Amino acid sequence: MFLSKKERDETIWACRFCMMCNCADRVAQVVRRESYTPRGRGAIMFALESGLLEYDEGVADIMYTTLNDRLLQHWCVGNYDHEELVIDMRARLFKKGLAPEEVVAFANRIKKNPIKGENPEKILSGAGVTMDSDSDTLLFCGSAALNSQQSTLICAGKLFNQAGQPLKVLSDEPSSGWALYQLGDFEGAKQLSKRIAKKIRDCRVSKVVALDADSYRMLMGRTTRFGGDIKGIKVHHINALMADWFKNNQIPVAGRISDTVTYHDPCVLARFFEDVDSPRLILSKILKNPLKEMASSKKLANCCGAGGMLPLHRPDVSDQVAGLRIDEAADTGASVLVSGCPRCDDKFKRSMAARGQDDMRIINLVELVAEAAGLTFPTNPNH
Ligand code: SF4
Repeated sequence: MFLSKKERDETIWACRFCMMCNCADRVAQVVRRESYTPRGRGAIMFALESGLLEYDEGVADIMYTTLNDRLLQHWCVGNYDHEELVIDMRARLFKKGLAPEEVVAFANRIKKNPIKGENPEKILSGAGVTMDSDSDTLLFCGSAALNSQQSTLICAGKLFNQAGQPLKVLSDEPSSGWALYQLGDFEGAKQLSKRIAKKIRDCRVSKVVALDADSYRMLMGRTTRFGGDIKGIKVHHINALMADWFKNNQIPVAGRISDTVTYHDPCVLARFFEDVDSPRLILSKILKNPLKEMASSKKLANCCGAGGMLPLHRPDVSDQVAGLRIDEAADTGASVLVSGCPRCDDKFKRSMAARGQDDMRIINLVELVAEAAGLTFPTNPNH
């Protein structure tokens, strides 16, 4: 759907013989099998197209064991979009009824009940955040912030209040459809895109601020293409908004953070939207010491392990990918790993727990800013 036939054919033709971006594919490094590399996938797709191979569960396992983080394209001199090619292949598998069982079950669940978690109005008002039903800005929370990462949502609300910017939220925020797009359920993604677009239009806002990177990407580039009409509504990620608040002195810093900090660039923000400056500007305002950059950072940053909905099909591989990124963070000597997306935070925390590791603090940039601004809130022991 997102590659023309010509682009698709050319990408398959190029990838089937090419090893150039293998070194950037963390799944390939973890799984260590040729068929799970970009070249392996290219060769499999070529064989499927040529009738040398049949679509089956084995092909599906390979195509659903990927990160889709656009890092491959950054290593590709031909600028081929291997990630979108994989999503196209997932869509073909999904349509043929060959997607893995847990993928189909997840897609059915989310279509039946697209509401992603707790009521954000309740979470925010419980923490003393003031909302304004007349606000023309909608804070779009995303599933991680409505479940395991509610502290990020609360800090975002506190910062809106501090910056003097009115906000509202959807009391029954549905899924943006990003997960279904990634999993190749394009019909489901269309259904949810139309639904979310109507919800956003009905609440009469001119601006949406996304708290998580994947919802941001969906609302920015995919919702309209899947038939959801949000034309004319501006979509921002909270990092860019916070950078503006600092530029306009809307967030006074009560005390700079003295810990040694490293920053994980979420794939979507760094590669799809190329915003690597906002978080660094923010960190320069709130840290006492210079930021410690990881060996791979900015546009070449490695994925946290949650890309491409990998945790759903291969949580083991996803945890190992996250572990490699945590090791990169530890190599900087930092005691705090900050990221710009609640889904990355969730992934790192789960992987740390799976490794029995507790020597590094994982925190969202929004929360670190709230901490520097001296904003506190009652902690829910469950989150
Ligand atoms: S995406 Fe580019 S670098 Fe990677 S395998 Fe395909 S042609 Fe080679």
